[in-house]
Amino acid sequence: IFGPRRNSVGLSFGDEAALGALLNGMEAEGAKLGTPELTSLVSGEEARSENNRPLISPSTGETIATLHEADEEIAAAAVKEAVAAHHEWNALPAEGRARALERMADLLEVNRDRLMAILAREAGKNLEDGIAEIREAVDFCRFYASEAKRLFVPHPLPGPVGEENQLRLEGRGVFVAIAPWNFPLAIFLGQVTAALAAGNTVVAKPAEQTPMIAHEAVRLLIEAGVPKGAVQLVLGGGEVGRAILDQPQIAGVVFTGSTGTAKAIQRQLAERDGAILPLIAETGGVNAMLVDATALPEQVTDDVVASAFQSAGQRCSALRVLYIQEDVAEGMLRMIEGAARTMKLGNPAEMTTDIGPIIDETARRRLADYVERRGGVHWQGEAPEEGTFFPPTIIRLDQDEALQEEVFGPVLHVKTYKAGRSEDVLREVGSSGYGLTFGLHTRITETAERIAGKAPAGNVYVNRNQIGAIVGSQPFGGMGLSGTGPKAGGPHYLLRFAEERVISTNT
Ligand code: GLU
Repeated sequence: IFGPRRNSVGLSFGDEAALGALLNGMEAEGAKLGTPELTSLVSGEEARSENNRPLISPSTGETIATLHEADEEIAAAAVKEAVAAHHEWNALPAEGRARALERMADLLEVNRDRLMAILAREAGKNLEDGIAEIREAVDFCRFYASEAKRLFVPHPLPGPVGEENQLRLEGRGVFVAIAPWNFPLAIFLGQVTAALAAGNTVVAKPAEQTPMIAHEAVRLLIEAGVPKGAVQLVLGGGEVGRAILDQPQIAGVVFTGSTGTAKAIQRQLAERDGAILPLIAETGGVNAMLVDATALPEQVTDDVVASAFQSAGQRCSALRVLYIQEDVAEGMLRMIEGAARTMKLGNPAEMTTDIGPIIDETARRRLADYVERRGGVHWQGEAPEEGTFFPPTIIRLDQDEALQEEVFGPVLHVKTYKAGRSEDVLREVGSSGYGLTFGLHTRITETAERIAGKAPAGNVYVNRNQIGAIVGSQPFGGMGLSGTGPKAGGPHYLLRFAEERVISTNT
Protein backbone atom coordinates (compact mmCIF):
# COMPACT_ATOMS: atom_id res chain seq x y z
CA ILE A 1 0.00 0.00 0.00
CA PHE A 2 2.97 2.34 0.29
CA GLY A 3 5.23 3.80 -2.37
CA PRO A 4 8.89 2.67 -2.65
CA ARG A 5 10.90 3.85 0.35
CA ARG A 6 13.39 2.52 2.84
CA ASN A 7 13.60 3.25 6.56
CA SER A 8 16.75 4.94 7.86
CA VAL A 9 19.63 2.90 9.20
CA GLY A 10 20.60 3.00 12.87
CA LEU A 11 23.84 2.81 14.75
CA SER A 12 25.24 -0.34 16.23
CA PHE A 13 26.36 0.46 19.78
CA GLY A 14 28.66 -2.55 19.58
CA ASP A 15 30.64 -0.88 16.78
CA GLU A 16 33.31 0.96 18.76
CA ALA A 17 34.49 3.15 15.89
CA ALA A 18 30.96 4.30 15.06
CA LEU A 19 30.15 4.93 18.70
CA GLY A 20 33.40 6.81 19.26
CA ALA A 21 32.67 9.03 16.25
CA LEU A 22 29.22 9.79 17.62
CA LEU A 23 30.49 10.68 21.09
CA ASN A 24 33.29 12.87 19.73
CA GLY A 25 30.91 14.51 17.30
CA MET A 26 28.39 15.23 20.04
CA GLU A 27 31.04 16.76 22.25
CA ALA A 28 32.40 18.98 19.49
CA GLU A 29 28.92 20.09 18.42
CA GLY A 30 27.81 20.57 22.03
CA ALA A 31 30.75 22.92 22.63
CA LYS A 32 29.57 25.08 19.71
CA LEU A 33 26.01 25.49 20.97
CA GLY A 34 26.74 28.29 23.49
CA THR A 35 23.65 29.77 25.16
CA PRO A 36 21.60 30.99 22.20
CA GLU A 37 18.74 33.49 22.14
CA LEU A 38 15.82 31.48 20.76
CA THR A 39 13.18 33.53 18.99
CA SER A 40 10.17 32.74 16.84
CA LEU A 41 10.91 32.64 13.11
CA VAL A 42 8.39 34.53 10.98
CA SER A 43 9.19 33.68 7.37
CA GLY A 44 12.72 32.89 8.50
CA GLU A 45 13.19 36.24 10.28
CA GLU A 46 13.85 36.36 14.03
CA ALA A 47 10.85 37.81 15.85
CA ARG A 48 11.88 39.06 19.30
CA SER A 49 9.53 39.95 22.11
CA GLU A 50 9.97 41.56 25.52
CA ASN A 51 8.90 38.34 27.15
CA ASN A 52 11.95 36.17 27.71
CA ARG A 53 13.12 33.62 30.24
CA PRO A 54 15.92 31.12 30.76
CA LEU A 55 15.68 27.61 29.36
CA ILE A 56 16.94 25.06 31.91
CA SER A 57 18.59 21.72 31.12
CA PRO A 58 16.76 18.91 32.94
CA SER A 59 19.94 16.90 33.42
CA THR A 60 22.13 19.61 34.94
CA GLY A 61 19.83 22.44 36.03
CA GLU A 62 22.01 24.86 34.04
CA THR A 63 20.69 27.64 31.83
CA ILE A 64 21.24 26.55 28.23
CA ALA A 65 19.43 29.27 26.26
CA THR A 66 17.10 32.25 26.51
CA LEU A 67 13.59 31.63 25.26
CA HIS A 68 11.76 34.61 23.72
CA GLU A 69 8.06 33.84 23.98
CA ALA A 70 5.92 35.08 21.13
CA ASP A 71 3.11 37.54 21.74
CA GLU A 72 -0.22 37.93 19.93
CA GLU A 73 1.30 40.17 17.31
CA ILE A 74 3.93 37.57 16.40
CA ALA A 75 1.30 34.80 16.30
CA ALA A 76 -0.87 36.90 13.97
CA ALA A 77 2.08 37.80 11.73
CA ALA A 78 3.10 34.13 11.43
CA VAL A 79 -0.40 33.08 10.37
CA LYS A 80 -0.65 35.96 7.90
CA GLU A 81 2.68 35.02 6.28
CA ALA A 82 1.67 31.34 6.12
CA VAL A 83 -1.62 32.31 4.41
CA ALA A 84 0.33 34.34 1.84
CA ALA A 85 2.66 31.41 1.11
CA HIS A 86 -0.07 28.80 0.74
CA HIS A 87 -1.10 29.18 -2.88
CA GLU A 88 2.39 28.76 -4.33
CA TRP A 89 3.32 25.78 -2.13
CA ASN A 90 0.01 24.02 -2.76
CA ALA A 91 0.33 24.60 -6.50
CA LEU A 92 3.66 22.75 -6.62
CA PRO A 93 3.25 19.21 -7.90
CA ALA A 94 3.62 16.62 -5.12
CA GLU A 95 7.09 15.69 -6.46
CA GLY A 96 8.30 19.24 -5.78
CA ARG A 97 7.12 19.20 -2.19
CA ALA A 98 8.45 15.68 -1.74
CA ARG A 99 11.89 16.68 -3.02
CA ALA A 100 12.28 19.27 -0.26
CA LEU A 101 11.27 16.73 2.39
CA GLU A 102 13.67 14.13 1.01
CA ARG A 103 16.47 16.70 1.18
CA MET A 104 15.41 17.40 4.75
CA ALA A 105 15.82 13.71 5.61
CA ASP A 106 19.38 13.83 4.23
CA LEU A 107 20.17 17.01 6.17
CA LEU A 108 18.96 15.42 9.42
CA GLU A 109 21.39 12.55 8.86
CA VAL A 110 24.25 14.91 8.03
CA ASN A 111 23.57 16.99 11.16
CA ARG A 112 23.11 13.98 13.45
CA ASP A 113 25.76 14.89 16.03
CA ARG A 114 24.53 18.43 16.54
CA LEU A 115 20.92 17.26 16.83
CA MET A 116 21.97 14.55 19.30
CA ALA A 117 23.83 17.13 21.42
CA ILE A 118 20.74 19.34 21.55
CA LEU A 119 18.41 16.42 22.31
CA ALA A 120 20.59 15.36 25.25
CA ARG A 121 21.00 18.86 26.63
CA GLU A 122 17.49 20.22 26.16
CA ALA A 123 15.28 17.11 26.38
CA GLY A 124 17.47 14.74 28.44
CA LYS A 125 17.52 12.09 25.67
CA ASN A 126 20.09 9.35 26.16
CA LEU A 127 22.09 7.99 23.21
CA GLU A 128 19.71 5.18 22.34
CA ASP A 129 16.65 7.43 22.44
CA GLY A 130 18.44 10.23 20.57
CA ILE A 131 19.44 7.93 17.72
CA ALA A 132 15.92 6.45 17.57
CA GLU A 133 14.42 9.92 17.55
CA ILE A 134 16.54 11.13 14.62
CA ARG A 135 15.76 7.95 12.70
CA GLU A 136 12.05 8.46 13.25
CA ALA A 137 12.28 12.07 12.08
CA VAL A 138 14.15 10.96 8.95
CA ASP A 139 11.58 8.23 8.33
CA PHE A 140 8.68 10.66 8.66
CA CYS A 141 10.24 13.00 6.07
CA ARG A 142 10.78 10.21 3.54
CA PHE A 143 7.49 8.47 4.30
CA TYR A 144 5.28 11.54 3.89
CA ALA A 145 7.23 12.55 0.78
CA SER A 146 6.49 9.18 -0.77
CA GLU A 147 2.87 9.26 0.43
CA ALA A 148 2.38 12.70 -1.16
CA LYS A 149 3.57 11.28 -4.49
CA ARG A 150 1.24 8.28 -4.13
CA LEU A 151 -1.89 10.19 -3.09
CA PHE A 152 -1.68 13.71 -4.52
CA VAL A 153 -2.27 12.81 -8.15
CA PRO A 154 -5.57 13.25 -10.03
CA HIS A 155 -7.80 10.16 -9.72
CA PRO A 156 -10.14 9.56 -12.69
CA LEU A 157 -13.64 8.46 -11.60
CA PRO A 158 -16.27 6.59 -13.62
CA GLY A 159 -19.18 8.37 -15.35
CA PRO A 160 -21.44 8.19 -18.40
CA VAL A 161 -20.10 8.62 -21.93
CA GLY A 162 -19.43 12.31 -22.55
CA GLU A 163 -18.56 13.15 -18.97
CA GLU A 164 -15.18 13.21 -17.26
CA ASN A 165 -14.94 13.00 -13.50
CA GLN A 166 -11.82 13.56 -11.50
CA LEU A 167 -10.96 13.60 -7.79
CA ARG A 168 -8.04 15.71 -6.62
CA LEU A 169 -6.47 16.19 -3.22
CA GLU A 170 -5.00 19.51 -2.17
CA GLY A 171 -3.80 21.29 0.96
CA ARG A 172 -6.43 22.89 3.19
CA GLY A 173 -4.50 26.08 3.92
CA VAL A 174 -2.61 26.93 7.10
CA PHE A 175 -2.20 24.01 9.49
CA VAL A 176 -1.29 24.69 13.13
CA ALA A 177 1.09 22.04 14.51
CA ILE A 178 1.39 21.81 18.29
CA ALA A 179 4.08 19.36 19.35
CA PRO A 180 5.08 17.71 22.65
CA TRP A 181 8.43 17.82 24.46
CA ASN A 182 8.83 14.03 24.66
CA PHE A 183 9.59 13.62 20.94
CA PRO A 184 10.63 17.20 20.25
CA LEU A 185 12.23 16.40 16.89
CA ALA A 186 10.38 13.32 15.58
CA ILE A 187 6.81 14.28 16.43
CA PHE A 188 7.47 17.97 15.74
CA LEU A 189 8.73 17.10 12.27
CA GLY A 190 6.15 14.34 11.77
CA GLN A 191 3.37 16.90 12.16
CA VAL A 192 5.08 19.61 10.11
CA THR A 193 6.18 17.38 7.23
CA ALA A 194 2.78 15.69 6.95
CA ALA A 195 1.08 19.06 6.71
CA LEU A 196 3.64 20.32 4.19
CA ALA A 197 3.55 17.13 2.10
CA ALA A 198 -0.21 17.54 1.75
CA GLY A 199 0.18 21.09 0.41
CA ASN A 200 -0.49 23.09 3.56
CA THR A 201 1.68 25.80 4.98
CA VAL A 202 2.41 25.47 8.67
CA VAL A 203 2.51 27.49 11.87
CA ALA A 204 4.42 25.28 14.28
CA LYS A 205 4.42 25.72 18.04
CA PRO A 206 6.83 23.35 19.76
CA ALA A 207 6.55 22.60 23.47
CA GLU A 208 7.90 25.43 25.61
CA GLN A 209 10.44 23.01 27.13
CA THR A 210 12.03 22.16 23.77
CA PRO A 211 12.32 25.22 21.51
CA MET A 212 16.01 24.70 20.66
CA ILE A 213 15.63 21.50 18.65
CA ALA A 214 12.53 22.90 16.91
CA HIS A 215 14.48 26.04 15.95
CA GLU A 216 17.17 23.83 14.47
CA ALA A 217 14.59 21.74 12.57
CA VAL A 218 12.95 24.80 11.01
CA ARG A 219 16.33 26.19 9.98
CA LEU A 220 17.09 22.87 8.26
CA LEU A 221 13.67 22.73 6.55
CA ILE A 222 14.39 26.11 4.97
CA GLU A 223 17.87 24.94 3.96
CA ALA A 224 16.24 21.86 2.42
CA GLY A 225 14.16 24.05 0.12
CA VAL A 226 10.89 24.57 1.97
CA PRO A 227 9.96 28.22 1.25
CA LYS A 228 10.44 30.51 4.27
CA GLY A 229 6.79 31.46 4.24
CA ALA A 230 5.61 27.84 4.32
CA VAL A 231 7.03 27.06 7.75
CA GLN A 232 6.50 29.53 10.58
CA LEU A 233 7.91 28.86 14.04
CA VAL A 234 6.13 30.40 17.02
CA LEU A 235 7.67 29.82 20.46
CA GLY A 236 5.95 29.79 23.82
CA GLY A 237 3.48 27.98 26.05
CA GLY A 238 -0.28 27.50 26.24
CA GLU A 239 -1.14 31.18 25.97
CA VAL A 240 0.78 31.47 22.71
CA GLY A 241 -0.95 28.33 21.43
CA ARG A 242 -4.34 29.86 22.17
CA ALA A 243 -3.36 33.09 20.41
CA ILE A 244 -2.51 31.12 17.24
CA LEU A 245 -5.77 29.14 17.41
CA ASP A 246 -7.72 32.40 17.65
CA GLN A 247 -6.46 33.54 14.25
CA PRO A 248 -9.44 33.34 11.89
CA GLN A 249 -7.48 32.20 8.81
CA ILE A 250 -6.18 28.86 10.11
CA ALA A 251 -7.52 25.72 8.39
CA GLY A 252 -6.69 22.79 10.70
CA VAL A 253 -4.82 21.69 13.80
CA VAL A 254 -2.57 18.73 14.52
CA PHE A 255 -1.75 18.21 18.18
CA THR A 256 0.13 15.70 20.34
CA GLY A 257 -0.04 16.06 24.11
CA SER A 258 -2.47 15.55 26.95
CA THR A 259 -6.11 14.58 26.54
CA GLY A 260 -7.12 17.64 28.59
CA THR A 261 -5.33 20.01 26.23
CA ALA A 262 -6.79 18.26 23.16
CA LYS A 263 -10.27 18.84 24.55
CA ALA A 264 -9.47 22.47 25.35
CA ILE A 265 -8.30 22.94 21.74
CA GLN A 266 -11.48 21.29 20.46
CA ARG A 267 -13.60 23.66 22.59
CA GLN A 268 -11.67 26.71 21.41
CA LEU A 269 -12.05 25.69 17.77
CA ALA A 270 -15.78 25.05 18.22
CA GLU A 271 -16.39 28.44 19.79
CA ARG A 272 -14.64 30.50 17.11
CA ASP A 273 -16.49 32.16 14.29
CA GLY A 274 -15.92 30.75 10.83
CA ALA A 275 -15.19 27.33 9.38
CA ILE A 276 -15.42 23.98 11.19
CA LEU A 277 -11.81 22.90 11.48
CA PRO A 278 -10.35 19.38 11.59
CA LEU A 279 -8.38 18.46 14.69
CA ILE A 280 -5.94 15.56 14.61
CA ALA A 281 -5.10 14.72 18.22
CA GLU A 282 -2.74 12.08 19.57
CA THR A 283 -2.96 12.02 23.35
CA GLY A 284 -2.24 9.81 26.35
CA GLY A 285 -2.86 6.26 27.46
CA VAL A 286 -3.23 4.05 30.50
CA ASN A 287 -1.46 1.25 28.68
CA ALA A 288 -1.56 -2.32 29.94
CA MET A 289 0.31 -5.57 29.32
CA LEU A 290 -1.10 -9.01 29.96
CA VAL A 291 1.28 -11.86 30.74
CA ASP A 292 -0.04 -15.39 31.00
CA ALA A 293 1.61 -18.44 32.56
CA THR A 294 2.99 -19.69 29.22
CA ALA A 295 5.03 -16.53 28.56
CA LEU A 296 8.85 -16.66 28.46
CA PRO A 297 10.03 -15.00 31.71
CA GLU A 298 13.31 -13.61 30.29
CA GLN A 299 11.53 -12.03 27.36
CA VAL A 300 8.79 -10.63 29.57
CA THR A 301 11.43 -9.09 31.83
CA ASP A 302 13.23 -7.34 28.97
CA ASP A 303 10.03 -6.10 27.41
CA VAL A 304 8.46 -4.87 30.65
CA VAL A 305 11.58 -2.98 31.66
CA ALA A 306 11.92 -1.35 28.23
CA SER A 307 8.22 -0.53 27.96
CA ALA A 308 7.88 0.94 31.44
CA PHE A 309 11.25 2.58 32.13
CA GLN A 310 13.01 3.42 28.85
CA SER A 311 12.89 7.17 28.16
CA ALA A 312 12.04 7.46 31.89
CA GLY A 313 8.54 6.30 30.96
CA GLN A 314 7.95 9.59 29.15
CA ARG A 315 6.24 8.08 26.13
CA CYS A 316 2.53 8.05 25.61
CA SER A 317 2.95 4.41 24.52
CA ALA A 318 4.70 3.36 27.75
CA LEU A 319 3.48 0.49 29.90
CA ARG A 320 1.60 1.69 33.00
CA VAL A 321 -0.18 -1.43 34.32
CA LEU A 322 1.18 -4.94 34.12
CA TYR A 323 -1.27 -7.84 34.64
CA ILE A 324 0.51 -11.13 35.45
CA GLN A 325 -1.27 -14.46 35.82
CA GLU A 326 -1.08 -15.15 39.54
CA ASP A 327 0.65 -18.57 39.33
CA VAL A 328 3.79 -17.00 37.82
CA ALA A 329 3.54 -13.48 39.24
CA GLU A 330 6.00 -13.60 42.13
CA GLY A 331 8.84 -15.12 40.08
CA MET A 332 8.33 -12.72 37.17
CA LEU A 333 8.14 -9.73 39.44
CA ARG A 334 11.42 -10.70 41.10
CA MET A 335 13.10 -10.87 37.69
CA ILE A 336 11.65 -7.53 36.59
CA GLU A 337 12.78 -5.88 39.79
CA GLY A 338 16.24 -7.43 39.39
CA ALA A 339 16.58 -6.07 35.86
CA ALA A 340 15.28 -2.62 36.83
CA ARG A 341 17.83 -2.53 39.65
CA THR A 342 20.69 -2.61 37.12
CA MET A 343 19.46 0.45 35.20
CA LYS A 344 21.69 3.49 35.51
CA LEU A 345 20.25 6.98 35.77
CA GLY A 346 22.46 9.92 34.88
CA ASN A 347 23.96 12.19 32.24
CA PRO A 348 22.07 11.34 29.04
CA ALA A 349 25.09 12.02 26.83
CA GLU A 350 27.07 9.21 28.48
CA MET A 351 27.26 5.79 26.90
CA THR A 352 26.30 3.90 30.07
CA THR A 353 23.14 5.86 30.90
CA ASP A 354 19.91 3.88 30.65
CA ILE A 355 17.51 6.48 32.01
CA GLY A 356 17.76 10.24 31.61
CA PRO A 357 15.95 12.95 33.55
CA ILE A 358 12.28 13.92 33.81
CA ILE A 359 11.64 16.89 31.54
CA ASP A 360 11.33 19.56 34.27
CA GLU A 361 10.83 20.14 37.96
CA THR A 362 7.05 20.54 37.64
CA ALA A 363 6.77 17.09 36.04
CA ARG A 364 9.17 15.54 38.55
CA ARG A 365 7.21 16.99 41.47
CA ARG A 366 3.94 15.70 40.03
CA LEU A 367 5.39 12.16 39.96
CA ALA A 368 6.79 12.43 43.49
CA ASP A 369 3.44 13.71 44.80
CA TYR A 370 1.58 10.93 43.02
CA VAL A 371 3.74 8.16 44.47
CA GLU A 372 3.59 9.67 47.96
CA ARG A 373 -0.20 10.12 47.83
CA ARG A 374 -0.89 6.65 46.50
CA GLY A 375 1.55 4.50 48.53
CA GLY A 376 1.82 0.77 47.88
CA VAL A 377 5.42 1.07 46.63
CA HIS A 378 6.80 -2.43 46.07
CA TRP A 379 10.24 -1.30 44.88
CA GLN A 380 11.95 1.97 44.00
CA GLY A 381 15.40 2.62 42.52
CA GLU A 382 17.67 5.56 43.22
CA ALA A 383 18.00 8.87 41.42
CA PRO A 384 20.88 11.37 41.22
CA GLU A 385 20.51 14.54 43.34
CA GLU A 386 21.40 17.00 40.59
CA GLY A 387 18.90 17.58 37.76
CA THR A 388 15.25 16.50 37.66
CA PHE A 389 15.55 12.71 37.91
CA PHE A 390 12.92 10.30 39.19
CA PRO A 391 13.76 6.69 40.08
CA PRO A 392 12.06 3.71 38.43
CA THR A 393 9.22 2.67 40.72
CA ILE A 394 7.00 -0.40 40.97
CA ILE A 395 3.62 -0.10 42.70
CA ARG A 396 1.36 -3.02 43.51
CA LEU A 397 -2.33 -2.42 42.98
CA ASP A 398 -4.97 -4.12 45.12
CA GLN A 399 -7.31 -6.57 43.42
CA ASP A 400 -10.21 -4.10 43.47
CA GLU A 401 -8.16 -1.18 42.11
CA ALA A 402 -8.00 -0.17 38.43
CA LEU A 403 -5.67 2.56 37.21
CA GLN A 404 -7.70 5.32 35.57
CA GLU A 405 -5.20 8.17 35.18
CA GLU A 406 -2.08 8.46 33.07
CA VAL A 407 1.07 8.69 35.23
CA PHE A 408 3.69 10.10 32.85
CA GLY A 409 6.99 8.73 34.12
CA PRO A 410 8.88 5.58 35.16
CA VAL A 411 6.12 4.25 37.42
CA LEU A 412 4.91 0.71 36.77
CA HIS A 413 1.74 -0.58 38.41
CA VAL A 414 1.38 -4.34 38.83
CA LYS A 415 -1.67 -6.54 39.37
CA THR A 416 -2.29 -10.27 39.23
CA TYR A 417 -5.19 -12.06 37.56
CA LYS A 418 -6.52 -15.60 37.80
CA ALA A 419 -6.11 -18.15 34.99
CA GLY A 420 -9.05 -17.97 32.57
CA ARG A 421 -9.97 -14.37 33.55
CA SER A 422 -8.23 -12.48 30.75
CA GLU A 423 -11.60 -11.15 29.53
CA ASP A 424 -12.05 -9.43 32.91
CA VAL A 425 -8.65 -7.83 32.49
CA LEU A 426 -9.60 -6.49 29.04
CA ARG A 427 -12.83 -5.05 30.46
CA GLU A 428 -10.95 -3.41 33.31
CA VAL A 429 -8.33 -1.95 30.97
CA GLY A 430 -11.08 -0.61 28.70
CA SER A 431 -12.81 1.07 31.63
CA SER A 432 -10.22 3.87 31.68
CA GLY A 433 -11.61 5.14 28.37
CA TYR A 434 -8.08 5.34 26.89
CA GLY A 435 -6.95 3.03 24.09
CA LEU A 436 -3.38 3.54 22.94
CA THR A 437 -1.02 0.55 23.31
CA PHE A 438 -1.53 -2.95 24.68
CA GLY A 439 1.14 -5.59 25.28
CA LEU A 440 0.53 -9.32 25.37
CA HIS A 441 2.85 -12.17 26.28
CA THR A 442 1.63 -15.71 25.64
CA ARG A 443 2.85 -18.74 23.73
CA ILE A 444 -0.68 -19.88 22.87
CA THR A 445 -1.52 -18.77 19.35
CA GLU A 446 -5.30 -18.84 19.91
CA THR A 447 -4.96 -16.63 22.99
CA ALA A 448 -2.77 -14.20 21.06
CA GLU A 449 -5.26 -13.96 18.20
CA ARG A 450 -8.31 -13.63 20.44
CA ILE A 451 -6.84 -10.93 22.67
CA ALA A 452 -5.02 -8.98 19.94
CA GLY A 453 -8.30 -8.73 18.03
CA LYS A 454 -10.25 -7.18 20.88
CA ALA A 455 -7.78 -5.43 23.23
CA PRO A 456 -8.93 -1.84 23.79
CA ALA A 457 -5.97 -0.21 22.01
CA GLY A 458 -4.93 1.21 18.66
CA ASN A 459 -1.53 -0.55 18.77
CA VAL A 460 -1.24 -4.12 20.07
CA TYR A 461 2.19 -5.70 20.57
CA VAL A 462 2.51 -9.47 20.99
CA ASN A 463 5.58 -11.07 22.64
CA ARG A 464 7.66 -7.89 22.38
CA ASN A 465 7.88 -4.46 24.00
CA GLN A 466 5.15 -1.93 23.36
CA ILE A 467 7.11 1.24 22.59
CA GLY A 468 9.01 2.68 19.66
CA ALA A 469 6.53 2.38 16.80
CA ILE A 470 8.35 2.36 13.45
CA VAL A 471 7.11 4.63 10.66
CA GLY A 472 5.38 2.61 7.94
CA SER A 473 5.57 -0.64 9.94
CA GLN A 474 3.61 0.29 13.05
CA PRO A 475 1.38 3.24 12.15
CA PHE A 476 0.77 4.78 15.55
CA GLY A 477 -2.25 6.20 17.36
CA GLY A 478 -5.10 5.28 19.66
CA MET A 479 -8.81 5.53 20.20
CA GLY A 480 -11.21 7.03 22.75
CA LEU A 481 -9.40 9.36 25.17
CA SER A 482 -6.12 8.50 23.39
CA GLY A 483 -6.86 10.44 20.23
CA THR A 484 -8.75 10.98 17.03
CA GLY A 485 -6.56 9.10 14.57
CA PRO A 486 -5.55 8.74 11.78
CA LYS A 487 -2.35 6.96 12.66
CA ALA A 488 0.94 8.81 12.27
CA GLY A 489 3.27 6.99 9.87
CA GLY A 490 0.33 5.17 8.30
CA PRO A 491 -1.37 5.11 4.88
CA HIS A 492 -4.33 7.32 5.88
CA TYR A 493 -2.50 10.09 7.72
CA LEU A 494 -2.04 12.60 4.90
CA LEU A 495 -5.68 12.35 3.87
CA ARG A 496 -6.80 14.15 7.03
CA PHE A 497 -4.57 17.10 6.11
CA ALA A 498 -6.16 17.39 2.67
CA GLU A 499 -9.20 18.88 1.02
CA GLU A 500 -10.94 16.88 -1.72
CA ARG A 501 -12.06 18.48 -4.97
CA VAL A 502 -14.16 16.76 -7.63
CA ILE A 503 -14.26 18.20 -11.15
CA SER A 504 -16.96 16.91 -13.51
CA THR A 505 -16.68 18.04 -17.13
CA ASN A 506 -19.21 17.60 -19.89
CA THR A 507 -17.01 16.78 -22.87
N1 GLU B 1 5.34 6.72 18.91
C1 GLU B 1 5.99 6.63 20.18
C2 GLU B 1 6.23 5.20 20.59
O1 GLU B 1 5.70 4.31 20.02
C3 GLU B 1 5.23 7.33 21.27
C4 GLU B 1 4.76 8.69 20.91
C5 GLU B 1 4.43 9.58 22.11
O2 GLU B 1 4.90 9.34 23.22
O3 GLU B 1 3.74 10.58 21.87
O4 GLU B 1 6.93 4.97 21.53
